[in-house]
Amino acid sequence: MNVDLAVVGSGFFGLTIAERCTRELGLRVLVIERRPHIGGNAYSEPEPQTGIEIHRYGAHLFHTSNARVWEYANRYTGFTGYQHRVFTIYKGRVYPMPINLGTMCEYFGAALSPDEARALIAEQSAEIEPGQAVNLEQKAVSLIGRPLYEAFIRGYTYKQWQTDPVDLPPEIITRLPVRYTFDNRYFNDTFEGLPVDGYTAWLERMVDHPKIEVRLNTDFACLRSELLGSVPVVYTGPLDAYFDYAAGDLGWRTLDFDLEVLPTGDFQGTPVMNYADSDVPFTRIHEFRHFHPERDWYPTDKTVIMREYARFAEHGDEPYYPINTAEDRARLLAYREMADREQGVLFGGRLGTYKYLDMHMAIGSALTTFENRLRPFFKDHAPLSPAISTDHAPLSPAISTDHAPLSPAISTDHAPLNNPETALTDRNGGHE
Ligand code: FAD
Ligand code: UDP
Repeated sequence: MNVDLAVVGSGFFGLTIAERCTRELGLRVLVIERRPHIGGNAYSEPEPQTGIEIHRYGAHLFHTSNARVWEYANRYTGFTGYQHRVFTIYKGRVYPMPINLGTMCEYFGAALSPDEARALIAEQSAEIEPGQAVNLEQKAVSLIGRPLYEAFIRGYTYKQWQTDPVDLPPEIITRLPVRYTFDNRYFNDTFEGLPVDGYTAWLERMVDHPKIEVRLNTDFACLRSELLGSVPVVYTGPLDAYFDYAAGDLGWRTLDFDLEVLPTGDFQGTPVMNYADSDVPFTRIHEFRHFHPERDWYPTDKTVIMREYARFAEHGDEPYYPINTAEDRARLLAYREMADREQGVLFGGRLGTYKYLDMHMAIGSALTTFENRLRPFFKDHAPLSPAISTDHAPLSPAISTDHAPLSPAISTDHAPLNNPETALTDRNGGHE
């Protein structure tokens, strides 16, 4: 095969690797994608009846506090000034989300000052000792008290994860800020916006290069024997699928989307409405026109909405969110050991590392993988990191003759994922 590097998966992780390796190192890169389009879950397209841009795999909001990622993203797209705000319906009333002073005043029916709200929440969260929360329920109760947890988190989380919140890791809930101000922005990040002409235009520009070949409708399984051992591979598909589920299935959650065009210019007056009640079967409704209020060409008599339903992924479903129960974490360790022994393959991205990565984290992690692993391997003849096993023949380097074996990105030091750029708390920068 006449390429220097193969990338499996054309999401943000894979395309950032392909873009960097081609533009920085002049490599020929083959990108293999099993879907009929590039972009992974960030792919968007115009809805045919209305021309309104829809995000086929769920609404994607770009936000980051990482200046390096923001600068890199801006090479390929401009961003609108969009700032994400979400509301939630609970028992027939609408509240701002994430939980802020407005939510508390509304829910408790009182004009609480920040100090009064803090004192109330301290009282309502007293059942959990600070620092003692070991699961999502305890963490949420420690942050917002039991009544707000029961109203806004328990039912929604159960619907979204199909798992009791006591069996989920606390990190999931720390994605949401809690504020004792009326600031109802969903994210705390320094930089935020939506790509001016859509996600797909951005992603297409990243790989618009004669040395990048994208092969759509192609599963890695079809080229696996041809590629492994003859060319370095960056694999961003599901980690358990790569090893044919040898250590068991890692738990994933998938989503079903129900898209509808409605004969009104505005269905809900906001981009995303969450539904907290457990007897409503969907978790949220997206109304795409509100993501781009600046697009004055959108029709005024039609709108596009998408209801989102969550369930466990079976084989053949799209694996969207790693569930990460204790059992999953034990299996993940087994897969990491297998990955460490896999010569010539770097595992990356949300699926390849079984990590809940946002887009900016996937891009940041790919930039780090490029700088710390691929550039030294291809350019400076340096080993990427010591491989656990020494009984494999070194992989022949693509553009030079004396490289050390390529070792996996999620090897024992798990370097890209321990990087602050990819830490889970990156999303909200801590609680206020
Ligand atoms: P992906 O985008 O999943 O790309 C992986 C690609 O690999 C896919 O295209 C897949 O088809 C391909 N692939 C898998 N297996 C194979 C195989 N065997 N052969 C060939 N190809 C294969 N992030 C945000 O920052 N903001 C958001 O608002 C946000 N919302 C999200 C909403 C949903 C519903 C989901 C699922 C994710 C959301 N994300 C969001 C996360 C974002 O989608 C990811 O961070 C990003 O897609 C990660 O890119 P990736 O390259 O790691 O993986
Ligand atoms: N969550 C909730 N109620 C809400 C919104 C979020 O309980 O109205 C919880 C839920 O457990 C979710 C987590 O907070 O998984 C993180 O929410 P986020 O919106 O970040 O999830 P995502 O963007 O991944 O769907």
